[in-house]
Amino acid sequence: MRLALMSDIHANREAFEACLGDAHRRGFDRLALLGDIVGYGADPVATVEMAQAEVAKGAIALIGNHDACLDRGDEDLNKVARAALSWTRAQLSEGHRMFLRELPLTAEVDDVLMVHASANAPQSWEYITNGGAAERSIRASDKRVTICGHVHVPALWLLAHNGTAQAHKPAIGLSIPLPPPRRWLAVLGAVGQPRDGVPGAGYAMLDTDAAEITFLRIGYDHEAAARKILAAGLPESLALRLMRGA
Ligand code: ZN
Repeated sequence: MRLALMSDIHANREAFEACLGDAHRRGFDRLALLGDIVGYGADPVATVEMAQAEVAKGAIALIGNHDACLDRGDEDLNKVARAALSWTRAQLSEGHRMFLRELPLTAEVDDVLMVHASANAPQSWEYITNGGAAERSIRASDKRVTICGHVHVPALWLLAHNGTAQAHKPAIGLSIPLPPPRRWLAVLGAVGQPRDGVPGAGYAMLDTDAAEITFLRIGYDHEAAARKILAAGLPESLALRLMRGA
């Protein structure tokens, strides 16, 4: 099965549309949205409604920490994220919030587990930014391949023979083999708020039969998305992030 994997859309309609368009041109069997549909960006209503339409067509959608904070308080978020969240809360209807609230923490397809943050206690929203965190997430799942987002920087980890997680280069645009029986963890880049210095929207294609993943970067009108953030009165730093990709 060919899975189109998108995480951290963050209310960026332009980036989400660009990734969906690119994924449809390439072709896929199932779309999976790995959480943080809202937060930071200026189009929460549009991105939630796009996600709802994709779910109605069979897409998987998971809850992210920003989606969860809409209802459960935002003590864990920084000041800018909190400001964006209270603005976002005011835009969304009860129907939108209910859709986000009821999304599951994890989903499984073939030999793949998907989660927003870590498969090890998904609701604690641990960031996979080092080998220890990667190893904990891989070991918490009984699936061979784990896919997550949350970090906004693409990464690829392999559980090595010595039992520790080793970093592999998540080369962009190349199909990377994930040969069995080895166990892998792929961290997707963000669709709507990249943090690795490249403004393009990030997503990935995973072929579960061929056991190959391809990390992709798609140019989109990030200036338009940034202008909307300023026009909405959201923190200026959020617009600058889209311009810099960091
Ligand atoms: Zn995020």
